[in-house]
Amino acid sequence: MTQYLTDYFVILQGWLFDTLVQPVLFALGLASYVEMGFDGIEFVLQGGIELAIAYVLMRPLEALWPAERWTQRRAVRVDVLYTLLNRLGMVPLTVFTLLAPLFMELESWLRFNDIIPRQLEDWLPGLDNHPLASFLIYLVILDFAEYWRHRLSHTCGWWWALHGIHHSQRQMSFWTDSRNHLADDLIAGLWFACLSLLIGVPPGHFIGLLIALRLVENLSHTNTRLAFGPIGDYLIVGPRYHRWHHALELPADRHCRYGCNFAILFPVWDILFGTLYLKESLPPTGIHEGSPEEIAARDSFWAQQKLGLILLWKALTSRNRQSPSA
Ligand SMILES: [Zn+2]
Ligand SMILES: [Zn+2]
Repeated sequence: MTQYLTDYFVILQGWLFDTLVQPVLFALGLASYVEMGFDGIEFVLQGGIELAIAYVLMRPLEALWPAERWTQRRAVRVDVLYTLLNRLGMVPLTVFTLLAPLFMELESWLRFNDIIPRQLEDWLPGLDNHPLASFLIYLVILDFAEYWRHRLSHTCGWWWALHGIHHSQRQMSFWTDSRNHLADDLIAGLWFACLSLLIGVPPGHFIGLLIALRLVENLSHTNTRLAFGPIGDYLIVGPRYHRWHHALELPADRHCRYGCNFAILFPVWDILFGTLYLKESLPPTGIHEGSPEEIAARDSFWAQQKLGLILLWKALTSRNRQSPSA
């Protein structure tokens, strides 16, 4: 089944390349970019498929069973723009273009020094014939790393200056998943790709792992009352769980000082490291903006990008580091 889907994917990628991308690149005199163009189609197709799945599954949940009912959806528009830029290739392509030379350098340095990143199968030879088991183990390792990336983006003042953009949405929906400052996207891409390279994620698993993480992330931002039950809510991150991560108000106790519920896929990390906070209710989301600039940036893509850089600069140059709120 997956083989059939992969075959269709490759055929479609080839067709788009032959009929659209290659002729346009040649016409513009950009023949040296054909290889990058071929890879770019893969990003766009993959993002388009993910977006279609997310829309078909999650939009009905928001329409029929919302956590909050809104009289107007103006604030959602900017998140739709973030999602289109992200899923339809612009952000991943930029990240890829910036990171690719770096990774080529890193790979050749590793090869030159006879360092070959060991794959999971080298440690556990029994996994050779169990691709599903190896996929799940990679998923757990990457999710663990994502927990710490996310937690650090709340505890480091300079990183929170960027990540706060993601939290500033008061009308959180499945589109909010992609609402990230571009510099935050770049750091997250670097984090994920570096780790994948070091632990030897096979290319065949890479796309599947990314899709699994992104779909759960979309679902966890969905404006819905959907819950996984008294046990399920502690097994996988769902909309109520992540809504508490985005809560406008959190208890003032020590373990929620920088936020709570940092897990992306599996709540077990919050349970183990003491950052879990879950209640039956569904809290309002957002942050308390501190300045007129922050309020003005609520619905504007460019204002948010600019604000993120200004706050980043202030955080890096200020001696009195501010504690980020959730
Ligand atoms: Zn966060
Ligand atoms: Zn979020």
